Amino acid sequence: MATNKLIDSFGREITYLRLSITDRCNLRCQYCMPAEGIDIVKKTELLTYKEMYRIIRILSELGVNKVRLTGGEPFVRKEFMTFLEKLNFNKNLKEINITTNGALISKHINSLEKLNVKNINLSIDSLNAENFKKITRRDVFSQVYNTLEVLEKSDLNLKLNVVVQSGINTNEIKDFILLTKHKNLSVRFIEEMPFNGKGQRKTLENWNYNRILQDINDNYTNIIKLNNSKSSTSKNFKIEGFKGNFGIIPAFTRTICKDCNRIRITATGLFKNCLFDDGVFNIRDFIRKGVSDDEIKQLFIDTIAKKPKNGFIAEANRKSQKGVSESMSTIGG
Ligand code: SAM
Ligand code: SF4
Repeated sequence: MATNKLIDSFGREITYLRLSITDRCNLRCQYCMPAEGIDIVKKTELLTYKEMYRIIRILSELGVNKVRLTGGEPFVRKEFMTFLEKLNFNKNLKEINITTNGALISKHINSLEKLNVKNINLSIDSLNAENFKKITRRDVFSQVYNTLEVLEKSDLNLKLNVVVQSGINTNEIKDFILLTKHKNLSVRFIEEMPFNGKGQRKTLENWNYNRILQDINDNYTNIIKLNNSKSSTSKNFKIEGFKGNFGIIPAFTRTICKDCNRIRITATGLFKNCLFDDGVFNIRDFIRKGVSDDEIKQLFIDTIAKKPKNGFIAEANRKSQKGVSESMSTIGG
């Protein structure tokens, strides 16, 4: 085997896997899926935990040391906590992180603290119960906010994911910043992307990275720029004297690709070199044909070597030229 690392043709080393645990979700966020939900796949099409464990082990032998488990909502899949306990035995992993909507997790936080779980990204797009209900189409604000409070006091690092939705929660950006005054957490404002099952939403204003930062500048003085780690997707800041900090993720404007260190695998095993591609091959099908670990390793090495330079090129190379529209819940956000 030529190499035991995952390096693409632009010299980027892949060390980070985002794995979707399930395509199912207990919420119906407007920007993620239609009210009736998405067409979920048959259970037999989902990767089993055993398959996920094997994929992660193989990738971790090729230099992947960080895994983010996402979905859909990871905690709606049965035995997710047991899977996490098993994953804890993989000593090549420096970090196991989870992205969750938080509605179901407050009872698990003590157990999560005992595992190799470092960061929880909690999605909360409004601090107002009514607005939260409109966005998520479910009445679970109090459960999610309770999770936020328990997590903030726990040993886990807490990041809040806030998808900035023009005309829907843009008036709350300043309230999220205020939350960082006394709370030890990081708010990450994410540009809205067209991954909602329908395609790009028409809006009056384009709330991109610059517009979000401008809004914060209009409401707060003394914004301090923080150092970003090389492959960080967010540009990070804090307000002087505030306990927490905030970041902005230019997810849609894609100015972060040159330091990309990540790959994705969906809940059905579709391998994605880039969020914006339409999937390269299905690892589940290879596994179910009985391929060996070495064959899987070579497949990853060869595929990652062809990782597109950036998200625009990945999007242009899609088989269908209708543009991106699949739900983030299918992709694994
Ligand atoms: N259900 C979990 C949650 O909501 O945190 C994990 C899966 S969700 C797809 C992962 C992240 O993707 C969430 O923070 C969500 O807000 C974000 N997301 C979903 N659709 C998006 C879109 N169209 N644009 C930007 N972010 C999106
Ligand atoms: Fe579910 Fe997360 Fe999508 Fe909301 S963003 S519908 S919580 S998968």
